[in-house]
Amino acid sequence: MGSILIVAEVQNGSIREASYELASFAQKLGREVHSLVIGSGVAGEAEAFAKKGGGTVHLVDAEAAANYNVDVYAAAIKAAVAATSPDAVLISNTPTGWDVAPRIAAAQDCGFVSDAFDVAEEGGSLVFKRRVFNGKLDAQITASGPVVATMQPGGTAPFEGTTDGSVSALEADLSGAKSAFVEVKVAEAKGVDLSKAEIIVSGGRGVGEPEKFPEVIQPLADALGGAMGASRPVVDAGWLPHEYQVGSSGQIVTPKLYIAAGISGAIQHLVGMKGSNFVIAINKDPDAPIFEVADVGVVADLFEVVPALTEAVSAAKG
Ligand SMILES: Cc1cc2nc3c(=O)[nH]c(=O)nc-3n(C[C@H](O)[C@H](O)[C@H](O)COP(=O)(O)OP(=O)(O)OC[C@H]3O[C@@H](n4cnc5c(N)ncnc54)[C@H](O)[C@@H]3O)c2cc1C
Repeated sequence: MGSILIVAEVQNGSIREASYELASFAQKLGREVHSLVIGSGVAGEAEAFAKKGGGTVHLVDAEAAANYNVDVYAAAIKAAVAATSPDAVLISNTPTGWDVAPRIAAAQDCGFVSDAFDVAEEGGSLVFKRRVFNGKLDAQITASGPVVATMQPGGTAPFEGTTDGSVSALEADLSGAKSAFVEVKVAEAKGVDLSKAEIIVSGGRGVGEPEKFPEVIQPLADALGGAMGASRPVVDAGWLPHEYQVGSSGQIVTPKLYIAAGISGAIQHLVGMKGSNFVIAINKDPDAPIFEVADVGVVADLFEVVPALTEAVSAAKG
């Protein structure tokens, strides 16, 4: 069985959490694990990654790689592929991954799987899972040869253990770049990053009006030390900005606790939150599909239950 090559993604000098999730996927496959760390002044990050699931880390530490440039990254990845001959190259399904992964697959003339949320070893082959038809079905894709795959952030937890790993410099010719880095324009910081929240309290159309989000939903999120989320109709109506939306066309979230208030549980919403560790659903309709994925279901008016919960949590905290 061939090895796995992880392409770690460096952002602002640090390896992203999504890369540690790739390490989780690679380690569970039980194959030899290699990683590529590319950047400038990132030797310390490479050492840390080697000990946290990255296996044998190949480091391309060069001024030319200080900022993301698809030509430079592609050249480094090709050098790492040539050095390791992996069965699979795992890249995070991030804007960087979307940009560079298809180039690698085309250059290697190998298979390509995009946006997979899981990978397993079956009978000597790698089997990837990805959601299709807006999350209604999970498709299984069996790699019959070497493959490049982008993996959905949040598909698994970041690697937690400690591993024996090593770091060695990789020679790569980065000189032929046709594009040049100009500048990074950082988008204006917006309210929430649901992907990192451990507790999310989401409101749906059942909340009824925009003012009720700051009045009813946000106070419970605040009392629990969590973040507020929403279903799509809430965002489509302009009650909250898009970054609050959970679901197939919003964010995929995996918090420890997800509270859904006034959300029916359409498949496109469930796709975004069914990886949550514990789900509490509050809905007036006992037949609402959200109850099928709920650990605790409360058939009641959210305007009675949510303020009562907020009060109880605040009182418990003193
Ligand atoms: C291509 C596509 C992509 C989509 N992507 C997404 C996505 O990313 N995220 C997403 O959420 N949706 C998405 N949708 C929309 C999705 O199909 C549903 O329409 C949407 O999730 C429904 O939102 P909701 O549950 O808030 O509203 P509704 O389905 O209208 O449900 C409202 C619920 O509130 C309950 N309720 C009403 N009043 C109260 C009360 N006082 N107390 C308690 N319960 C009450 C009702 O019983 C009902 O169950 C997508 C659809 C398409 C076609």
